[in-house]
Amino acid sequence: MDVNSAVWTVPARAREFGFFVDGQWAEAGDRPMSERKSPAHGVAVTRTVRCTKADIDHAVRVARTAFEDRRWSGLPGGERASVLLKAAAGIRARVEELALLESLESGKPIGQAIGEIEGGANIFEYAAGAARALHGDAFNNLGDNMLGLVTREPIGVVGLITPWNFPFFILSERVPFILAAGCTIVSKPSEVTSATTLLLAEILSDAGLPAGVFNVVTGSGSEIGQALAEHADVDMISFTGSTAVGRSVLLASAGNFKKVGLELGGKNPQVVFADANLDEAADGVVFGICFNAGQCCVGGSRLVVEKSIAAEFEALVAAKMARVRIGDPLDPNTQMGAIVTAAQNATILGYIEAGKREGARLVCGGEAYPSDAGQFVRPTVFADVTREMSIASEEIFGPVLTISTFETFDEAMAIANDTIYGLAASIWTCNLDKATDAFRRIRAGRVWVNTTINNGPELPLGGFKQSGTGREAGIYGVEEYTEVKATHIALGRREPWVS
Ligand code: NDP
Repeated sequence: MDVNSAVWTVPARAREFGFFVDGQWAEAGDRPMSERKSPAHGVAVTRTVRCTKADIDHAVRVARTAFEDRRWSGLPGGERASVLLKAAAGIRARVEELALLESLESGKPIGQAIGEIEGGANIFEYAAGAARALHGDAFNNLGDNMLGLVTREPIGVVGLITPWNFPFFILSERVPFILAAGCTIVSKPSEVTSATTLLLAEILSDAGLPAGVFNVVTGSGSEIGQALAEHADVDMISFTGSTAVGRSVLLASAGNFKKVGLELGGKNPQVVFADANLDEAADGVVFGICFNAGQCCVGGSRLVVEKSIAAEFEALVAAKMARVRIGDPLDPNTQMGAIVTAAQNATILGYIEAGKREGARLVCGGEAYPSDAGQFVRPTVFADVTREMSIASEEIFGPVLTISTFETFDEAMAIANDTIYGLAASIWTCNLDKATDAFRRIRAGRVWVNTTINNGPELPLGGFKQSGTGREAGIYGVEEYTEVKATHIALGRREPWVS
């Protein structure tokens, strides 16, 4: 959809949602409601239900029944694929509605929201193929009296906890793969961005997904997110969010040793060598930190640049930063929208103050962007950053870039890997040997060469080190949600053990 083909306005009234369990909308009843204000406009845009632990118990029971009676897992992959393709068409048919809600709840530019919704549909289309491609293995070399089979089976009921930075896109990087594998789902979106997850439940239902296979329970992370992670009848948790909560999800899951997939934080390096195309590299670096106002787990927040060109490159980056269009997310020309919550805004501004206090040199930005109704931060660059500074090592999750320099290739690799995280990295050089050596040595789950933040459902996502465990997307993303079973089939007459 062309962003200019519609007029985007803040709705006059907040849209109210129930929650979605067993194939139908559930009413709020006497449960409290949570009101979401647009972080860019300061007006209420959605109201969602604050569900209870009892609602989680009910949704898990429903998902368990739907799994055990094989209404979904028992279907041929081709039939599952057909539902996923219809869901993709359903998403495409509702792009305008989904994108507007996504932009209003998260504060992201409307053009970007459209891209994410359409990107989500594209992932559903890919995963439809994966539903048919999923297969096991056979050992036909065990002699004439034995056949060995390795089959993949859906892992069962999956609890899916997703964050607010890319609510629909991150959901789409998981849901179609989990469904392709034949699992059932209880989904808990972030309380501040629940609308598009709820609408996906309706779209899936309209596409023919059997009742009870995809359920959405809304409410607070610390209460019902925690209850889902602890639940004894959930077989796997897929969590995306902060490293701190990821750790607590891992601990909570120990009760029944459920499998846990975690996609957590990052402090991702952008390594720029002197032989790079500097103008293109600067553009990539600015995009990498300003995209989604820096609230991006794979955003390149650490510029590691070769000393011989550092001054020239810093000036290029600062000049491009000054031209980034900040403002109303509903203006199609906006490139950088609002910060999602007042708390996140305070965290980012707190890190900016820490950078100044700790002696880093402020190159540009360094303050809030003025607005009557919302919260915005100017793209900020700190140079002369040393490893002891908090801005060098902690995930800020805002448009704040740090610069450090290197003189040798080994030094560049040491700085790039000097982090507890290992989510992503970008390398900028025109030398293929150097790029290859660098991508092999950087310890991260995703690496980009002469580009940044590219994605697509074919390639897997996930982190090294404290950025998480497991992989989403690609054929790996379906296999992630399966158990592997080994079966020996004896053929012919049995050689008696008892004589
Ligand atoms: P959280 O990790 O708190 O939130 C992520 C998800 O987890 C949300 O759905 C949240 O629900 C839920 N959640 C919160 N507490 C629990 C819990 N105890 N058990 C289970 N689920 C829970 O991130 P924040 O929103 O607090 O953001 C803080 C920082 O996390 C950011 O500054 C950033 O560094 C990082 N982050 C990383 C993301 C990534 O993509 N890797 C995404 C988002 C944040 P609810 O929102 O309703 O509380």
